Amino acid sequence: MTFVRTTSPRPVDVAAVFPQLAPLARPATRLHPRPGAPTPRDSSIGGPLLWPAEEPWPHCDGPHEGGGEWLAVVRVERSVRARAAAHPEGTPGVCAHTPRERAVLDQIDWDAEQPDGPIPMLPVAQLYVCDVPVLRPPGQADLLQVLWCPLDHPETCMPRSAVFWRSAAAVTDLLTSPPEPLHVEGEEYVPVPCVLAPERITEYPHFLELSEELRGQLSDRSRWQAADGAPDSSWARAPYPESFYRSDLSVAPGWKAGGWPQWGYTDPAPRQCPACDTAMEPLLTIDTFEWQGAGHRWIPYEVRAAGSTDDDRHRALRRPTGVQIGGGHKQQLYACPAEPGHPHIELMQ
Ligand SMILES: [Zn+2]
Ligand SMILES: [Zn+2]
Repeated sequence: MTFVRTTSPRPVDVAAVFPQLAPLARPATRLHPRPGAPTPRDSSIGGPLLWPAEEPWPHCDGPHEGGGEWLAVVRVERSVRARAAAHPEGTPGVCAHTPRERAVLDQIDWDAEQPDGPIPMLPVAQLYVCDVPVLRPPGQADLLQVLWCPLDHPETCMPRSAVFWRSAAAVTDLLTSPPEPLHVEGEEYVPVPCVLAPERITEYPHFLELSEELRGQLSDRSRWQAADGAPDSSWARAPYPESFYRSDLSVAPGWKAGGWPQWGYTDPAPRQCPACDTAMEPLLTIDTFEWQGAGHRWIPYEVRAAGSTDDDRHRALRRPTGVQIGGGHKQQLYACPAEPGHPHIELMQ
């Protein structure tokens, strides 16, 4: 890992003020994606996977709808935009296609349709357990790989994902040119290749997942005021202290592994394993945004200056992967803690 991201300390140690929260603390790992050039040996989002040459590449059988964008065009347009962003003064010709981009576009057969049959999936995340120890792999596995189908499916509002665990040492012959779909639903289903700066943090359950007693305590302003004493204690006078708990103290935004789930699109829903009925646990959260807005308390130290502006730099930092789930939501993947081989489930929040 070549860069570091550090979540600012929470403005109050909430488990000290509300001791009943202490046993509910759970580790999570914020992934902090940043556009880069990951290799198959790196943890990444949207990067090349360490995939055995002898193993079939995952495909999605559909049925599909939509698929109006060319994957190759999405990539060319992105690299043009990245060049333009790197030359904000508007260097002449910076938006013109390079010979390589021109060659890619020239090779497209604009009349070609997506071939019938299964669609090759796209890499979404590759996490080595040594980088993200919060993961609980089965057996000897030490690598989590997540892919998704970049097309829409009837009656779903987010990409359909597939999850694989493997042992990195068992991969000797690497698949170097995996098959790719011709078309995608849109740019938002094509993650920008990103390197990661995993950071372990502590989370507490979403307000709506707490007992009635704890919810009552968190809504009681006098409890917060009794704990007042921090230099920046405006939080202690907030009219709705429970919303401060929700936004700043409980569940982190952004791409992360483990921890507690965020709710908001729906109320908390039971997540039972379809195979054995065990309560499932958060595996990976795929998020549209890394934080909610300029000046947000979850913005890491290292990007706080740019993250507190309201310009293009902030927008790029806030949405580094280019992924968008629904209208700006999260896709949560859950795994069975009793048997990691059981199928995962996913929810949009
Ligand atoms: Zn599909
Ligand atoms: Zn199960």
